[in-house]
Amino acid sequence: MSATVVDGKAIAAQVRAEVAEEVARLAVKPGLATVLVGDDPASAIYVANKRRQTAEAGMRSIDRTLPQDAGQEEVEEVVRELNRDPDVHGILLQLPTPPQVDGPALTSLIDARKDVDGLTPVSAGLLAQGKPGLRPCTPSGCMELLRRHGVPLEGAEAVVLGRSDLVGKPVAQLLLAAHATVTVCHSRTRDLPEVCRRADVLVAAVGRAEMVRGDWIRPGAAVVDVGINRTDAGLRGDVAFEEAAAVAGLITPVPGGVGPMTIAMLLRNTLEAFGLQ
Ligand code: NDP
Repeated sequence: MSATVVDGKAIAAQVRAEVAEEVARLAVKPGLATVLVGDDPASAIYVANKRRQTAEAGMRSIDRTLPQDAGQEEVEEVVRELNRDPDVHGILLQLPTPPQVDGPALTSLIDARKDVDGLTPVSAGLLAQGKPGLRPCTPSGCMELLRRHGVPLEGAEAVVLGRSDLVGKPVAQLLLAAHATVTVCHSRTRDLPEVCRRADVLVAAVGRAEMVRGDWIRPGAAVVDVGINRTDAGLRGDVAFEEAAAVAGLITPVPGGVGPMTIAMLLRNTLEAFGLQ
């Protein structure tokens, strides 16, 4: 293996420690509200982690849990109440919601100044226009890993696999803001391996286990693997790790790469949202 393997757990712990240090200096503690609707087991675990790490960073965690059969209006009212509450600085609505609840419509209701997930249309618009705002957590986590490893972005060829609103599009816009030359690929892209081979920085956010092979990677490239795929062999990224690590200069593993960064960036966003209010 030639590539530097990024330790996302360690970097996430560092980010959380920096947030905790800043919070310790504040007279008023930032409050992060999490809204969990229903009893999807994966969502319950994510939200429990978020609540625990919020408390560990010295912030207040405001927990709203609604039943599986909660109606749209009931959840809307919770979001509106949290928007009005001056002690709540960040609001996180855990997706997906049960089928009778329109998750994206609820997300749109969140006050942009409290949008710590960075997923409201207002936050997405600010990012697209290159204006200050709260940025989505997983894409920010990718950028933070690249930054802390000193990966040059200005003028670099960056290729993003995936164009979702959650990961692909925002990560492409963050790379563009960092002055990379960005290509965004998706399911209709012709000759994906050839496009990927151009990349100095390759970000994979596709959701297909080990789709990106070693011979898709330009020697020395920085490879950021956002994918989380449960396979019979265990958790796998979108990149065939061993093959890619033999060619790349830097690579994020799965698990332990991008994954741990998401909550760390959520906490940082909460601190930033606090500053905005
Ligand atoms: P989506 O399913 O929303 O988007 C996947 C994207 O990949 C789409 O743009 C799709 O193209 C593209 N795609 C699918 N198949 C192919 C293919 N064969 N060739 C090229 N492009 C393809 O996924 P998300 O963006 O939400 O998530 C991506 C991955 O990241 C998942 O594994 C997810 O679990 C993981 N993830 C990890 C997070 C973390 O680490 N904390 C957070 C969020 C996600 P098209 O648009 O044409 O359909």
